[in-house]
Amino acid sequence: MTHVLVTGGAGYIGSHACKALRSAGYTPVTYDNLVTGWEDAVKFGPLEQGDLQDRACLDEVFERYSPIAVMHFAALSQVGESMQDPGRYWHNNVVGSLVLIEAAVEAECQNFVFSSTCATYGEHDNVLLDEDCPQMPINAYGASKRAIEDILENFSASHGLNHVIFRYFNVAGADPEAEIGEFHQPETHLVPLMLDAIDGKRDALTIFGTDYDTPDGTCIRDYVHVMDLVDAHILGLKWLENGKGNRIFNLGSGTGFSVREVIEHSRAVTNRVVPFTEGPRRPGDCTKLVSGSVRADRELGWKPSRSTLEMMIADAWRWHQNGHYDR
Ligand code: UDP
Repeated sequence: MTHVLVTGGAGYIGSHACKALRSAGYTPVTYDNLVTGWEDAVKFGPLEQGDLQDRACLDEVFERYSPIAVMHFAALSQVGESMQDPGRYWHNNVVGSLVLIEAAVEAECQNFVFSSTCATYGEHDNVLLDEDCPQMPINAYGASKRAIEDILENFSASHGLNHVIFRYFNVAGADPEAEIGEFHQPETHLVPLMLDAIDGKRDALTIFGTDYDTPDGTCIRDYVHVMDLVDAHILGLKWLENGKGNRIFNLGSGTGFSVREVIEHSRAVTNRVVPFTEGPRRPGDCTKLVSGSVRADRELGWKPSRSTLEMMIADAWRWHQNGHYDR
């Protein structure tokens, strides 16, 4: 069996990656502390419960499975929270990743696929972002991810660790078979919050800021379907297996939608009213984050096939109605 160590495999994106790995013939070994992940999302390979900062536990898992690669998803990922409690982000994301990277190098597991974020770019005046844009994060979440990118670069230079870094734009949608989906506790992301509001499971959605310098005053984001995103990870893994070396790729659809546009699409897809109110800006939010890169397409051969807002919302809605984790 060819094992891949998937940190955060019990989380939203990690669990979808495990499904994709299994379909591609690998055995995903989930390493997750289950603080924000769900045990019942681990369906495609074994679960090893442990913390990123627990070096002894990591060493034991590397020893037992001899994974050919690490896919590192485990992280705290809420922009708002990172502004209130940056220390948690630096400890969990940066220190935790450092411990993991050291354990991987020591275990001679030299292929590393890392989940980074477009939040590392920060504010850029109305440009489409490519991988060479300066990284000027405006929130602690983005800063923590940029720091991990730096650690990877250092460890590549000194220890020959090969890495592919994916900078995600806004990930949405769910497994179309609804085996797994997006569920955070607490939830802070736009699409699941909106579906809960549509369903009456929580109060009206609050739009965070209507005075941005955009056509309708609300923030613009580039949404990418989680299934397309994890497909890129399989291509990234093969890239490393083929010895193609270190590379950074944006993963986005290249199209931006405002919060109001997402609300409008959700109304159309679900055929239900979306209750919402308008509120102040959320600290740490950029005005516009849209990918302008074709590198993943050109070099990895990545062809997103589900990254329309309609499909993302329809798949998320299907999961929302059918899928449940015990909570
Ligand atoms: N957003 C919003 N209300 C919410 C949650 C999010 O208006 O309750 C907006 C947020 O300001 C951002 C976009 O929706 O412009 C996407 O936010 P999310 O938290 O889903 O992802 P992020 O862009 O922070 O990674």
